[in-house]
Amino acid sequence: MPESRPEKLIIDGKRLDGRKFDELRPIKIEVDVLKRADGSCYLEMGKNKVVAAVYGPREVHPRHLQDPSKAIIRYRYNMAPFSVEERKRPGPDRRSIEISKVSKEAFEAVIMKELFPRSAIDIFVEVLQADAGSRTACINAASVALVDAGVPMKGILTSVAVAKVDGQLVLDPMKEEDNYGEADMPFAFLIRNSKIESIALIQMDGQMTKEEIKMALELAKKGAMEIYKLQREAIMKRYVTEEGIEVEEVNTDA
Ligand code: UDP
Repeated sequence: MPESRPEKLIIDGKRLDGRKFDELRPIKIEVDVLKRADGSCYLEMGKNKVVAAVYGPREVHPRHLQDPSKAIIRYRYNMAPFSVEERKRPGPDRRSIEISKVSKEAFEAVIMKELFPRSAIDIFVEVLQADAGSRTACINAASVALVDAGVPMKGILTSVAVAKVDGQLVLDPMKEEDNYGEADMPFAFLIRNSKIESIALIQMDGQMTKEEIKMALELAKKGAMEIYKLQREAIMKRYVTEEGIEVEEVNTDA
């Protein structure tokens, strides 16, 4: 990555990596990659590489944390020290605690917690390589891992950011756009039966006009629908064999 801001982030209508304003980075999703987790997923979104592992529903320890009416959801976002250009000190920091909190809250709206009183559903996401949008990549991976674990949900969470660079809105910003752009706005949507049902997360830094925020939402929805298709495809690929569907309890939408 260049040390200083490139003179232009959009040249002749194309972004620095050749994408159009409404194009996602290439996405790769693999389901059930970890033997010891109940559900897992490896996901690449451009240069982001993340792994999600889900455990549970399982008994909560310590027991005083149990909720008799529903499962508690725990979400830990962690960046490996080698995932970023300047080595990151291992362990939680303010940023990762905040990302874990907002992501957990997004999943709380989706997971059918009431079905599992006194239990915990633990979601761990590990960033192996980051290139902006790592929280969105992690939410997308966690969603697939939850399906893989057979956790009942009202739909799937799908996440993508929109940035403003050189005065133009762009979908799924990469590092240079995130660093040197005017605004960055990650979203997560609850999608059910190929329909966006609600917004589970919006964050923003920088500045956008009211009109731009509306346009950013539309752009994010378009990107989210494309990611949703890939999430479904990855799940189907894992569970549909030549003999037929291997799934009993796994439903890509619930
Ligand atoms: N980043 C970094 N060191 C850090 C935190 C972030 O180099 O300690 C980089 C990393 O590439 C990350 C990007 O900055 O993806 C943008 O970070 P942000 O906080 O906006 O979160 P993200 O866009 O990854 O969800």
